[in-house]
Amino acid sequence: MDDDTLGRAWRDDAPWALLTDLAAMDRFAGHPGERRAAGRVREALETAGLDARIEPFGMRRWTRGGTRLTVDTDPAHSFEAVALPYSPSADVTGRLVDAGYGTPGDCARVEGGVAVVSTATPPDADRHVHRMEKCGHAADAGARAVVFASDRPGQLPPTGALRFGEEADTPAVGVSHETGEWLRRYADRGAQVSLGVDATTEAGESQNVRATLGPDTDEAVLLVAHYDAHDVGEGALDNGCGVATMVGAVRALAGVRLDCRVEVAAVGCEEVGLLGAAALAETVDTDRLRAVVNVDGAGRFRDLRAVTHGSEALRETVEGVADEVPDPVAIGEQPHPYSDHWPFLRRGVPALQLHSSRPSEDGVWERGWTHTRADTLDKADPRSVRTHAVLAALLVKRVAAGSFGDIDPAELRGQLREAGAEPGMRAAGVWPERWDE
Ligand SMILES: [Zn+2]
Repeated sequence: MDDDTLGRAWRDDAPWALLTDLAAMDRFAGHPGERRAAGRVREALETAGLDARIEPFGMRRWTRGGTRLTVDTDPAHSFEAVALPYSPSADVTGRLVDAGYGTPGDCARVEGGVAVVSTATPPDADRHVHRMEKCGHAADAGARAVVFASDRPGQLPPTGALRFGEEADTPAVGVSHETGEWLRRYADRGAQVSLGVDATTEAGESQNVRATLGPDTDEAVLLVAHYDAHDVGEGALDNGCGVATMVGAVRALAGVRLDCRVEVAAVGCEEVGLLGAAALAETVDTDRLRAVVNVDGAGRFRDLRAVTHGSEALRETVEGVADEVPDPVAIGEQPHPYSDHWPFLRRGVPALQLHSSRPSEDGVWERGWTHTRADTLDKADPRSVRTHAVLAALLVKRVAAGSFGDIDPAELRGQLREAGAEPGMRAAGVWPERWDE
């Protein structure tokens, strides 16, 4: 890419304007605000000179009602709790049990009780342990309900879906770090809690926004970013920054010669189970995809972080770009199933996820403000969106010129097993029965 193109991308304020508009919309899965956001993304792609269209798909729409959490020994002491998407409606009373980090060992005593589980990754784990795994372990151990307690101070209850695309059997709510500390204190005293959740799950519809860039070749690279967000905040970081980064990259690439077609997709319903990406994987010919580039987390923190999900060839490509740019590009390799690359990766498509980290984090993944009501526009920084859009454009151009072979599902399975991911993925209901479809 020549300096004129890079310079124009550096000056381009359309991605930030898009992010600002998206942050003002409630983009929760299957709801009218998500549909409006899809229209705004479509407009952004059309302004970039692409022919964009909206593809609807059916899904299970979850709608939040009220939530109540009280301790029976101290009924005047009630706590704020946020129901996790796909929690069923419930009225549960049970003994409070401190279930630590929500490992199977931590959940040994939760049967018949209400488990308090920390959002923190267990100190001895060498990978991020996902919420769905913790809640799955607690439910498998017989908890009547799960209270998911933030490990970060600041009175911010965390949210996050309980299952991929379907109502869970066991109700669950998020509470702040401070509430979690109170509940653990009450658990030590053998207290009972009452938890009420009102919510509905019904048939709904969401949509992906699709467009094409570059020459009309048989093979393609898929560039994807989710534009939906949780209903408790603005989703400015997760994943408003990512969509803005992707659109910035598309705008930079629109006038550039590419070696193969780039399928561009802004997908819905990531936050409730990668439903837009899964619908997309049903409609595109995954055998013809050279790679998927998933922009989830880029533009959020200062330094770009590229996760290659076990593909040696993709890692070399990223290293090649990183050597030529003045900004740092951190590289991660461990595959995980919790973002939009997954429906493609498990079908054998090499996957690159563009995330970001704070320079001090040393590549350690941190949730930050995301999945709380503090995920708001003021936390985003136009400098990060701008530089990551340029870096993403350079990476996509290079990926479109490469070939990366196929991911062997048996090898992917082996990598996940080796990382200790299988029991948790099974508890979360995301360990595939079949890996090739
Ligand atoms: Zn996300």
